Amino acid sequence: MGMMDGKVALIFGVANKNSIAWGITQKLHGQGATIALSYAGEILEKRVFPLAQEIGCDFVEECDVTKDEDLDAIFEKVKARYGRVDVVVHSIAFAPREDLNGRFVDISREGFKIALDISAYSLIAIAKRAEPLMTEGGTILCMTYYAAEKVVPGYHVMAIAKSALESITRYLANDLGPKGIRVNAISAGPIKTLAGAGVAGLRTLLKYNEAVSPLRKNVTTEDVGNAALFLASDMGASITGEVLYVDSGFNILGMTITEEEARGVTGG
Ligand code: NAD
Repeated sequence: MGMMDGKVALIFGVANKNSIAWGITQKLHGQGATIALSYAGEILEKRVFPLAQEIGCDFVEECDVTKDEDLDAIFEKVKARYGRVDVVVHSIAFAPREDLNGRFVDISREGFKIALDISAYSLIAIAKRAEPLMTEGGTILCMTYYAAEKVVPGYHVMAIAKSALESITRYLANDLGPKGIRVNAISAGPIKTLAGAGVAGLRTLLKYNEAVSPLRKNVTTEDVGNAALFLASDMGASITGEVLYVDSGFNILGMTITEEEARGVTGG
């Protein structure tokens, strides 16, 4: 018997086999969930369909979260097929490359609008449509990163989007809690994915996290999938509005260099 038997999960954000969303999909499916997949854009179609086949999923629909009509359509299709939804995973982010690099003060108005719309507002738009289908309560999950709280070079406009996403998580949790709908965020350590590659210096960041995080290792999409399974299942029944760190403990550090290195910096 699986932890997710009888549950329907709609997953946004599978781009390829390296996607965090795919790590989550595999875990939910492995515990018995019926999976519905949403992807963005024709280019990804040829990567997502074979993955769907691997798990016997025949609900694969295109949805650009900037378009209300796409969002309406996918939730209509979920309603028509399953009558309800139990788990919704938001594993989506995008920002124009030029607004991730360069100087923070140079972030453009247009880049800000795009990044916040796709990476943060979309969670509200998705939750609004999921609510009427979560007839027996439900779980909504989104993916965030430590740059929401502390300055991490190269995150710039995405850091702002993640701060907004974490705030949205709390407000949605409060709004939807009385209906038994839980909303949580997972703050994952850096992982080499398509979106991750948009961050300048990802390789350095990966090496750095591996070197200094308490567990001395980077995290995998499987690690994130396990945490998502925990939050989406009854194991997480009383957890809502939280940010759960899956980062080998990196976020607890107040100082990420050794005492010896610090002496080198301060001269004694
Ligand atoms: P990914 O590239 O595999 O996934 C990002 C997804 O966003 C893609 O599937 C893409 O199609 C989708 N997307 C972009 N614009 C969209 C739009 N307009 N409509 C619908 N979907 C759209 O990369 P990933 O690393 O798996 O990213 C998933 C989530 O995890 C993101 O929110 C990301 O910020 C977050 N995250 C990633 C890392 C990391 O280091 N990779 C760390 C922490 C959090």
